[in-house]
Amino acid sequence: MYNTVSTQNHRLYLEDVALEQVATQFGTPCYVYSKAALVKNYQAYQAALGDQKHLICYAVKANSNIAVLQTLAALGAGFDIVSAGELERVLMAGGDPAKIVFSGVAKTAGEMRRALEVGIHCFNVESEAELDLLNRTAAEAGCVASVSMRVNPDVDAKTHPYISTGLKENKFGVDINLAPAIYERAAKMTNISLVGVDCHIGSQITEITPFIDAMDRLLLLVDQLKDHGIQLQHIDIGGGLGVHYQNEDVPSVDDYMAQLLPRLEGRQEMLVMEPGRSITANAGLLLTQVQFIKSNGDKNFAIVDAAMNDMLRPALYQAWMDIQPLNTDSSSAERQYDVVGPVCETGDFLGKDRNLTIAAGDYLALFSAGAYGFVMSSNYNSRGRAAEVMIDGAETHKIRARETFDDLVRGEQLLPVSTEGH
Ligand SMILES: *Cc1c(COP(=O)(O)O)cnc(C)c1O
Repeated sequence: MYNTVSTQNHRLYLEDVALEQVATQFGTPCYVYSKAALVKNYQAYQAALGDQKHLICYAVKANSNIAVLQTLAALGAGFDIVSAGELERVLMAGGDPAKIVFSGVAKTAGEMRRALEVGIHCFNVESEAELDLLNRTAAEAGCVASVSMRVNPDVDAKTHPYISTGLKENKFGVDINLAPAIYERAAKMTNISLVGVDCHIGSQITEITPFIDAMDRLLLLVDQLKDHGIQLQHIDIGGGLGVHYQNEDVPSVDDYMAQLLPRLEGRQEMLVMEPGRSITANAGLLLTQVQFIKSNGDKNFAIVDAAMNDMLRPALYQAWMDIQPLNTDSSSAERQYDVVGPVCETGDFLGKDRNLTIAAGDYLALFSAGAYGFVMSSNYNSRGRAAEVMIDGAETHKIRARETFDDLVRGEQLLPVSTEGH
């Protein structure tokens, strides 16, 4: 993964911009992304895929800011979406509808209609019930829906249980053993065109073997279907490649493709991939400011202005994310801290037992925050969501304004005031 963070004169930089300058200009908490890192991470896939016929569909849910999508669309990226909202974001960002795959277990008829109308590449269908609804919806719209069935290859991705999706017990996809019968049924539907097969076995996967096992199972299915006269045009291996948060041994995109591509040699099918985290995680940081330092007996707390509503990963997955001061030229003493936010939950922490040389007022960066960061943020505790900034060389662009109180109460209404009294 490409790194655009550096230290110059004891100050952290993202590309050519001192992050302290971003924090003072835009306030904190604030998400900052490096455009160069986004581009490099995307190009790593393109380069590793070489001559292999492919379509890289960035998984929008990892980071759906329209400026991020615009950056990737300009490189020719496709997109993996999971809702009509994500579809509209991609269109607004200039994405090509013909390169969109639509995943998700609960697509509504309305979402299907909109996707048919704009002409997406295909629906990644996750159940027979969804297939029936899609066939009916396409018939009503007078068109044919392109379909890939999402199968569950039953491989263990060896990742956190909340982000493991390819085991039989997960809600995603159809059992790969039942897939041939479903494909044969679908082949007879008048408004369905079978174009591919897909899987997505989990996220933050740090070994290549589960991907290869999944691909081998997909290939068996594809060949079996071919014997029954169903010729698919693409094979979609999903996303899921892990990134560095701490000192994990993470395979590179090159390592991954070096093992995957030989499996596809001599085959006609296009390879589709749906990377999310590996494109955006290391391209982003969350900036926050220390409000107070507090000690309870032998425990020290750095209370910062970012909370679990801004960054949920530590609270939701016990995720470890690196935390460093933006200015390391400090006269404070190094101490061990739990870095906690202002939200009224004990689970509201960004990091525990971190050795930091900091004082109240200092700025901190939470690393690798570009994926599953802002997108999971909420207004819990009536906190406005953070600003987002894109850095491009020496330029900074505000790509999302910090939410105001008016934003928070938009759409809410007081009850009519009773004139009688009680
Ligand atoms: C979340 C998701 C992805 C992206 O996963 P990453 O781990 O971020 O690469 C891809 N495909 C589907 C279907 C997903 O749900």
